[in-house]
Parts: sequence; structure tokens; C-alpha cells
Amino acid sequence: MTLAIDSSPLRAIHDAMLARYGPQQWWPADTPFEVMIGAVLTQNTAWTNVERAIGNLRAANCLTLEHILDCPQNELAQLIRPSGYFNIKADRLLHLCRFVAEAGGVEALARRQDHDLRQAVLAVKGVGPETADDILLYAFRRPCFVIDAYTRRILSRIGLIQGKEPYEALRHAIEQALGPDVALYNEYHGLVVRHAKEACSKKPSCKGCCLAEACAHGGRAHGWENV
Ligand code: SF4
Repeated sequence: MTLAIDSSPLRAIHDAMLARYGPQQWWPADTPFEVMIGAVLTQNTAWTNVERAIGNLRAANCLTLEHILDCPQNELAQLIRPSGYFNIKADRLLHLCRFVAEAGGVEALARRQDHDLRQAVLAVKGVGPETADDILLYAFRRPCFVIDAYTRRILSRIGLIQGKEPYEALRHAIEQALGPDVALYNEYHGLVVRHAKEACSKKPSCKGCCLAEACAHGGRAHGWENV
């Protein structure tokens, strides 16, 4: 599936959100390895729950590759319990950590080319494209645009996408439109999450939204013509 998205509205959306919210300075983690752990823990849950799970791992001195690999799976599951789906996520964390160890560590992974690294991360059990791109972008600073449910919601309400496009088609179209810009992708995703929480939630607050003038949904909500 070939999909094309215009660059200028995509950039205008970023600029308007940045003007409203300021830099988001993602990802909230101290090390690339911690980003990888957080990327798995944040699957299907809010970040506040991830923070509690990571806090438990840190308090138990279990936030390193070696310590997680040494930790019995049931103990690991209890430590990450606040993140939800803790048995599944413990299994996924162990698969991810075994992958990192077998690859020679985070530093060895960081030497791989973008495509090779992405394919390798995607091959880890429990790592889908969104988690992989979280890891590629925020742990390894590679130009991989993260598509999450918030991205689909906002861009489809605005009218730039349908919302149900395949992940890879959407990622490719956005990356083509924006060019390979790690700093821009980093900020863009953080702003999308912020905007989805502050304004464009399931029931959007369109009044006063920084994207309202460009938004088909917001325009209809305001009764504007020609939107
Ligand atoms: S105008 Fe409403 S629907 Fe459009 S982006 Fe803003 S909050 Fe979302």
C-alpha cells in the first residue's frame, strides 16, 4: 500500500503543538536500556503505571540487563505488576534482555545499521512495530517515526489520514513527508501524546485547541463552513 501525506500540514501540526505545549523532552529514562524496558512496560497502559513498575525494579536493584536476566520470572512479574499484564510483560522483558545479551549488549546494538537493527528488534517475541520504533527512536536515536493510537486519532480527526492504514505504510508516508529527522520525530511523538491527553482525548475538547483551525473534526464542532 502506497500512501502519501503532505509535508506542510504535518509540519504545521508539529509547530502548533510545540507553540502550545513547549518541548516535551522525551523519553523519560536515564539510559537506553531503561528506554527499552519502558517501551515494553508501556504497552497497553498509562505511563504513570510504568513509572511505578520501573520504580519497583530500581528499588529491587533490578534495572540492569544482568539483574533482570538473573531474576526469576515470577519475581520479575511481581515487580512490574503496576504496569498490568505483568506475566506477559515479564516474559517479554526476558526475551528482550536475552536478545540484548546475545547481541553483545546495548553498545553492540548501537553499532548496527538502522534497517538491520529495526528488523532484529522486531524479531524479538512481544515487540511489535510501535514498541520497536519507541526503542529505535528513543534508545538508539534512529529516524523511525512512532505511530501509536494517539497519532492515528489526531491525524485522522484532522483529516490527513483515514486512521486504519497499515502501520508500515503510515510510518513510511510520514517519514517521507518529514525527512529523516531524529530530533523532530522525538519531539513530534511527545507532543502527540501530550495533545491527546490535554485536548484530543476520546471526547475531544476542540474549543481552544491549537489545531482547531486545521482540523476537520474541530471545524465541524465549531460549525465552520468548507471543512
Ligand atoms: S480540534 Fe478537536 S478533534 Fe481536532 S485536533 Fe483539536 S481536539 Fe482533536
